[in-house]
Amino acid sequence: ASPEMKSIRQQLPRWLETSLPCATRGNVASYIPELSKAPHNALGITLLSATGESASAGDCGLRFTMQSISKVFTLILALMDNGEDEVFSKVGMEPTGDNFNSMLKLELVRPGIPFNPMINAGAITVSSLIRGSSPEEKSERILHFFKDLAGNDRLDYDMGVYRSESDTGNLNRSISFFLKENGVLSGDVEEVLDVYFRHCSIVVDCADLARMALVLASNGTNPLTGKQLIPRRYVQIAKTFMTTCGMYNASGEFAIQVGLPAKSGVSGGILTLVPERYGIGVVGPALNDKGNSYAGVHLLQTISRELDWSMF
Ligand code: GLU
Repeated sequence: ASPEMKSIRQQLPRWLETSLPCATRGNVASYIPELSKAPHNALGITLLSATGESASAGDCGLRFTMQSISKVFTLILALMDNGEDEVFSKVGMEPTGDNFNSMLKLELVRPGIPFNPMINAGAITVSSLIRGSSPEEKSERILHFFKDLAGNDRLDYDMGVYRSESDTGNLNRSISFFLKENGVLSGDVEEVLDVYFRHCSIVVDCADLARMALVLASNGTNPLTGKQLIPRRYVQIAKTFMTTCGMYNASGEFAIQVGLPAKSGVSGGILTLVPERYGIGVVGPALNDKGNSYAGVHLLQTISRELDWSMF
């Protein structure tokens, strides 16, 4: 192993140990029963290098739903399906500073266009742009794309999470009808939401996230197979959104404390990367008041400081 990987493998268990107590200060998402069952004090991480070396620690085998992390990859697929001009005629490029599911700013910008593709309004709009003649076909294409990126043919939905999200998703429904009223969403609102709820419910572990992240770290190519999966330009766009909007309202703080492109989700996952070098998956279900994994952010902060990984 490389000297850095050796040092990571050696120190990772200790770094994880020091981040673990943070979890007690956080809360597991409880807006649906399925998420509230997640282990409060779990913390896991997998790092995968562009040369195929890996390091893992803690509860890296825990399985959880991607939730908002999926938004990065549906954005990429929508860009591959439609091109930049089409996508950015329907969704903006600016952070909001509001909650991920806020409707507030929808009323303020150019007729109802969502600020960015990482907030729910933007991500739902992106889901509507995925090519396919039916919601089933769109979802199938998304799942297939995610399987390719994760190098894992077994990726699938958590149907319990999917059903609960769909049953209780009134705010997402409101946002979607508002977008439809403004001509941003075309097509049937329930069908668009079905695609959205499904991709949020795809189940992964830390290694899956690390492999997906490594493709982004490697500018769209899987460095282990040499296969190009995403055009470089779209990876650049995705990594920029991760940096400016990936960690909800704490994206600025994360940029200062960790300094890497990242996307988090409400089940406590974080996907992040070190450009050209590492793909990283983290999970810690207890969330801080901004909705990011409490212990997960602490752990990434420690690693980034220790190894001087900030891009800035
Ligand atoms: N399915 C969740 C929602 O739309 C995703 C939330 C998240 O991970 O931020 O409410």
